Amino acid sequence: MIDLLPSQVERWQKVEAFARDHFRRANLGEIRTPLLEHTELFARGIGEATEVVGKEMYSFFDRGNRSCTLRPEGTASVVRSVIQNGLLSQGSQRLWYMGPMFRYERPQAGRQRQFHQIGVEFFGLSSEISDAELISIAWDFLNELGLRDLKLEINSLGTTDDRKKYQESLVSWLENFSELLDEHVLEQIKKNPLRILDSKKPNIQELLNEAPKLVDFLSNQSRNRFLNLQVILNSLGIPFTINTKLVRGLDYYCHTAFEITSSQLGAQATVCGGGRYDGLVEQLGGPKTPAIGWAIGLERLLILLGEDAFEKQFPEVYIVNKGPKAELESLTLARDLRASNFFVEIDYSGSAFSKQFKRANRSNASWAVVIGDEELKQEEIRLKRLKGKTKDPNEYLVKRSDFNQIIERLRS
Ligand code: ATP
Ligand code: MG
Repeated sequence: MIDLLPSQVERWQKVEAFARDHFRRANLGEIRTPLLEHTELFARGIGEATEVVGKEMYSFFDRGNRSCTLRPEGTASVVRSVIQNGLLSQGSQRLWYMGPMFRYERPQAGRQRQFHQIGVEFFGLSSEISDAELISIAWDFLNELGLRDLKLEINSLGTTDDRKKYQESLVSWLENFSELLDEHVLEQIKKNPLRILDSKKPNIQELLNEAPKLVDFLSNQSRNRFLNLQVILNSLGIPFTINTKLVRGLDYYCHTAFEITSSQLGAQATVCGGGRYDGLVEQLGGPKTPAIGWAIGLERLLILLGEDAFEKQFPEVYIVNKGPKAELESLTLARDLRASNFFVEIDYSGSAFSKQFKRANRSNASWAVVIGDEELKQEEIRLKRLKGKTKDPNEYLVKRSDFNQIIERLRS
């Protein structure tokens, strides 16, 4: 788990602010759920057979001997919350969340044990157009942030029935190759055969190129739904490719599944993963409710944005001063200026003015405010323009009591 230091947090805050603004414009409501849930929620909501629940959860017993888990993802908690708080009886819900998630994984570039996700979930909407809107919110968010080389891949998982037929065919096809498969894969095939499509092993992926494809097992209705989504994405001008191996290995997932990847991320290429999960709300004890969502990994997003995308924020005013009285006066002035929305830094070094001015210039502040002995005596302050010196005059002596004039000058 990593610390985020001030220079990094500045970048995070910009992405977070951008997300808030983007989601507000899409009229999504923010939901904040606890970091800790009953382990059972994830066991039921993500599934015992998944890597996340099987191997990656931070679970422990609390003092009341209840099994608790630090959330490994957001969807299960959001579903619990909308059920528990009765939101589903208030019409469709379009929600977003942002925050830390915890998974016991092997840390590497783009993979941490505490990482952060931004996610969006729609409840009570079942049409292809709602799928397209949900996808477009992720696509536009990433593009407006300035990410390039993004690839949207989509697939359809059809209905439970479609998948049952496909699964039988896939398993019997794979049986022809059982001597090529290791024990782990054979075990997977027994427990949850669809998950093998997701395998990261190159030899398995190669083999699967020849395997039966889920799209060929979709009912007419499912196929039409998938085609319709493609028509809508085309008319929105959102480019995509179909990846027939894109799956979510759990029963409550259906129809639309998608991922947004970037070739610049290396092995951890997925920035955004999402899909439709019409069965989950009911599975967790709520009313039958169609739902679809996605989650973006913020660390990976920030890797993609690089350093260049961020302009550093500079103080507007740097206060140069000397001696205890001038320091106190500096702090008083800083508080007044900050209350008027200025970004103010104070030099407490007590060093020679020439050194303080050097630091003021290095800070990239627009103005230096000087409070020296003479200024103190006259109850004045001196304003020196550091940036944009083509303007004239570049220096003012202003009465400390005339705050309006101070502000007016600093804004000039
Ligand atoms: P991966 O295949 O990379 O393990 P996943 O399928 O486990 O991803 P999801 O559960 O769909 O990922 O989570 C959505 C997004 O969250 C991912 O696409 C990724 O950007 C991010 N993410 C997931 N796990 C981690 C992690 N351990 N560290 C950083 N980001 C992560
Ligand atoms: Mg994972």
